[in-house]
Amino acid sequence: MSGIVSNFELTILGCNSAIQAFGRHPTSQVFSAYNQLYLIDCGEGTQFQLDKFHIKKSRINQIFISHLHGDHYYGLMGLLSSYRLHGRTEPLQVFCPIGTKEIVEVNLKHSKGQFVYPIEFYEIEDKPSHKIFEDKYIEVHTIPLNHKIATTGFLFVEKPRERNFIKEKIEEHQIPNEAINLIKEGNDFIGLDGKVIPYTELTTAPHPQRKYAYCSDTIYDESILPIIQGVDLLYHEATYLHSEELKAQQYWHSTAKQAATIAMKANAQSLMIGHYSSRYDNLDELLNEAKSVFSNSMLAIEGRTTEVSPTAP
Ligand SMILES: [Zn+2]
Repeated sequence: MSGIVSNFELTILGCNSAIQAFGRHPTSQVFSAYNQLYLIDCGEGTQFQLDKFHIKKSRINQIFISHLHGDHYYGLMGLLSSYRLHGRTEPLQVFCPIGTKEIVEVNLKHSKGQFVYPIEFYEIEDKPSHKIFEDKYIEVHTIPLNHKIATTGFLFVEKPRERNFIKEKIEEHQIPNEAINLIKEGNDFIGLDGKVIPYTELTTAPHPQRKYAYCSDTIYDESILPIIQGVDLLYHEATYLHSEELKAQQYWHSTAKQAATIAMKANAQSLMIGHYSSRYDNLDELLNEAKSVFSNSMLAIEGRTTEVSPTAP
């Protein structure tokens, strides 16, 4: 979209549920904003998928783990270990469920190993949605999900952007270069003749903040709606077709129809479904079922990058 210079996009590394099947891997994604990379979940094989899709793992400084079912984190130990072997020195932050640090430490204890780079574990407390991370570009908030064990989704929110300066105004009002950033930040300009020109006359409103919500794994639960309201892209698990609704409930998962209903009720711009059961080879039925409720639905496909934008398909 015009006016957007910085990327905000999602690449799927693994899109299947518990068992890998039909060439599909367990869950992992790379979210990229302003060319920073954030890893979301780390199922087995994640580092191989990173290599396959030419994503430099050394550029990842934050990892977000939703829950401690193996298909969402069994790749973590391997990735952490590879970082050591590759001589990583940069600190790594891991946002994860309670118990993750202990699991990693038990591994290290019995292999008599250690990491030479600093790892900070931030274990997520089970409480209402709250901010767990921010940098210059984004904030990350938790999305408490309803699964068999403690599970958290993640909401990635772009920080407010500065206003766009209207270049033609420089000559018109004799505005010096050093004043431009101040005006973009919302300060009025005072000309040499003392005349005040409001910043709103010199700039246009910034692009709305972009938002990506990652929701996996969960049963159908409308309590997340206020948190994910109006997101540009919602990823919601859709392990089963709705004909398997009882099975979905039994295993604390959702159907494609349920994922689409959440997207519709959340007024999401678009929906991506994933975490497919290994019973499905062809995914068209899952997609069609989601589309019958929410037309702007798409499948999570490994290796595919999707732009998170208010006008994305
Ligand atoms: Zn799970």
